[in-house]
Amino acid sequence: MGESCMNSIVWFRQDLRLCDNPALVHAASLGPIIPVFILEENSPGTHSFSGTAQAWWLHHSLQALSSDLPELRLFRGRPEEILSELAKKTGANAVFWNRRYEPVAIERDKKTKTLLCDHGIEVQSFAASLLAEPWTIKNGSGLPFKVFTPYWRSVRGRRFQPPLPRPDNLRIYNFPHDTRSSAPTPSRLEDWQLCPRNPDWAENWLDHWTPGEAGAFARLDHFINAGLRGYAALRDRPDRPNTSRLSAHLHFGEISPMQIAHVTAFASQTDPLLEEDAAKFMSEIGWREFAHHLHFHFPDLDKKNWKTTFDRYPWNKDDEALNAWKKGLTGYPIVDAGMRELWQTGFMHNRVRMVAASFLIKHLRIDWREGARWFLETLLDADLANNSAGWQWVAGSGADASPYFRIFNPTTQARKFDPEGTYIRKWCPELSDLDGASIHAPFEVPLDALARAGVVLGRTYPVPIVDHREARKSALDGYALVKDPAAGG
Ligand code: FAD
Repeated sequence: MGESCMNSIVWFRQDLRLCDNPALVHAASLGPIIPVFILEENSPGTHSFSGTAQAWWLHHSLQALSSDLPELRLFRGRPEEILSELAKKTGANAVFWNRRYEPVAIERDKKTKTLLCDHGIEVQSFAASLLAEPWTIKNGSGLPFKVFTPYWRSVRGRRFQPPLPRPDNLRIYNFPHDTRSSAPTPSRLEDWQLCPRNPDWAENWLDHWTPGEAGAFARLDHFINAGLRGYAALRDRPDRPNTSRLSAHLHFGEISPMQIAHVTAFASQTDPLLEEDAAKFMSEIGWREFAHHLHFHFPDLDKKNWKTTFDRYPWNKDDEALNAWKKGLTGYPIVDAGMRELWQTGFMHNRVRMVAASFLIKHLRIDWREGARWFLETLLDADLANNSAGWQWVAGSGADASPYFRIFNPTTQARKFDPEGTYIRKWCPELSDLDGASIHAPFEVPLDALARAGVVLGRTYPVPIVDHREARKSALDGYALVKDPAAGG
């Protein structure tokens, strides 16, 4: 009876899109909606962005959503208070949202739900940002998976829910003038000051990125047409445009993995030669799923070593080396190129993330949590689950991680994955006159050849802050303690 027309609040969170949005579709089917976004503060682990870079993305994403849905209301504060007050003032009898999966966010959502239900408000949440919710996938013993391959085999064999269309004929609740004044006070996006200033290091980011649902679709479309072919072979090459760069769009839910799966499957059905590339691409989406699965079942993934034997690792406390790494001044060109790409564009190619993270952990022996913190601050796609799983994978302390003793040689990695030095040349222009054979390791190049390329080590480009061989030995000595606590004597 009440279902024929009821006002309901749609709480947008990490689902900043109108297509394939189950909470929105459900609310729209019942009657007028009150769409809201709440900037949460002082609630560690639940707020809407991880760091300064991501705040910039959020600003632009909300701007895009507001232009598609001008009635979106912005609030700042505690969601449970704002939602219940808003429901009271508007007569809304329900609040709908799409689920988040970080353990802290789940706890907060549970409390919010209880409080709203106590006020007689219906609450319903929906699955919208993962192909498989973490609790729905179990191994043969009924336990969470710890290894990616069987995990993904189990997920990819499922039928994914088909993406929902954007609801047409959205009816929006009209705020009467007098109610508006007494409802919680809406905010103006500009007042949140989410974009960096003094210095505005995001100045050129709109040249690289188009936050929002339309930008996400344009990115997917471009990737399917121009990047997917060859993805399996070229995804490790930072000098090639063969990865999708969808990670930040996915983080903010401007596009769903169901939509990506749908479009990718269609492309490979249309052109069977794309099958292998499409399967590889989907398995990377699978790593995102796996990271959320791990984080859900191991809520401390961002704080503690998954393998507790790593608690014995003798980390170095070296602020000078940490700063050189952050600034891209280590003297290892592939590491420096990556760290500068990160600072200048809010992004770093996956292969280079692995090399740069490995360098911090193994060459400098600095705790992976220091690196993870810097990534959360500077990455546009910063994501607690993906980032923690990525760092623990590189450290060797994670589930299904790369073994610690496999230590990347940054020079060999650079020669293999950026063979002509195109990527290094772009981000370390001071090395750009070195030829393809020398650019990966200027410290191995004779002084006269360096001089001809205008490079003076220690002046125009740093001398390596550590020697690869010595660093490797010292990393392995540290690892001996992980394997055997008595090894340290
Ligand atoms: P594509 O190759 O096009 O992959 C498609 C999508 O799959 C990505 O957008 C992403 O959502 C997902 N994906 C791909 N690789 C991974 C992976 N290894 N783990 C989880 N998901 C993956 N990714 C983040 O989204 N946020 C992070 O904070 C983050 N931190 C990382 C930290 C480290 C140390 C490492 C090694 C990896 C991290 N990653 C993180 C994973 C990966 O580097 C990025 O997802 C990827 O580079 C994004 O580029 P893309 O969209 O072009 O990827």
